[in-house]
Amino acid sequence: MIERDGSFVRLSLFWGGLLFFLVLEFLSPYRKSSVSKVKRWMNNMALTVFNSLILQLAFAGAIVRTAIYVTTHQWGVLNMVALSPWVKLLMTVAFMDFMLYIWHLLNHDVPFLWRFHRVHHSDLNMDVSTATRFHIGELALSAVIRICLVFFLGASPFGVLIFESALVLCAQFEHSSLKIPGWFERIFWVLFVPPSMHRIHHSVVIKERNTNYGTIFSVWDRWLGTLLTDVDQNQIRIGVGAYQKPEKLNFHHLLAMPITRYVR
Ligand SMILES: [Zn+2]
Repeated sequence: MIERDGSFVRLSLFWGGLLFFLVLEFLSPYRKSSVSKVKRWMNNMALTVFNSLILQLAFAGAIVRTAIYVTTHQWGVLNMVALSPWVKLLMTVAFMDFMLYIWHLLNHDVPFLWRFHRVHHSDLNMDVSTATRFHIGELALSAVIRICLVFFLGASPFGVLIFESALVLCAQFEHSSLKIPGWFERIFWVLFVPPSMHRIHHSVVIKERNTNYGTIFSVWDRWLGTLLTDVDQNQIRIGVGAYQKPEKLNFHHLLAMPITRYVR
């Protein structure tokens, strides 16, 4: 039941959020596109649909099924302690997000992982479609890691569903090209990741790119010294320095990128 309802919720949030932020981006864009938005969207959506089709075959509901399994068998850390369900839910979201922060950091620091993650960073403009522009290799690896984490933690299916839903919406919001009032960004930034924080992470400047790894919460960056705030937002150029030609960033280039020449 939760497996079927969960995938319905995830899919609705994913496509609903994409449409919602796309409309907002048209109404109140952060800045004008420097390359064709239509072409970028075609490539990003081609990658998204391709990934969904393949991963659907390999991992359909695997994370939620793992959560059902560990809950039924009372495995994992959270099933060994007596805490209120709400505390466990909060711990699930915080723990999974922290692990994602570590995983993201490794994607930048380990050359093998960067080969895949650079597909995401090679987008020349950042908008809501960037949130879903990932190489299938990175997504498959992160799915395996998430399954192991759910096993270790003993997360409930509901906890996993809430975490995955929050993840999708936060990722879409922080990648979106939206003009957002400064006061809102400042309040949001205390706990969460606003677009301006994540824009710094997508800078071509490597020193700026290797900061601000958080997806849901900004506190991990703050506590572990990877937070960068002091950057002129108007001067940020999005992308990877070595990939500046849009005609070299089509679907098939992105798919082959991990096995091409290594660049920082
Ligand atoms: Zn990154």
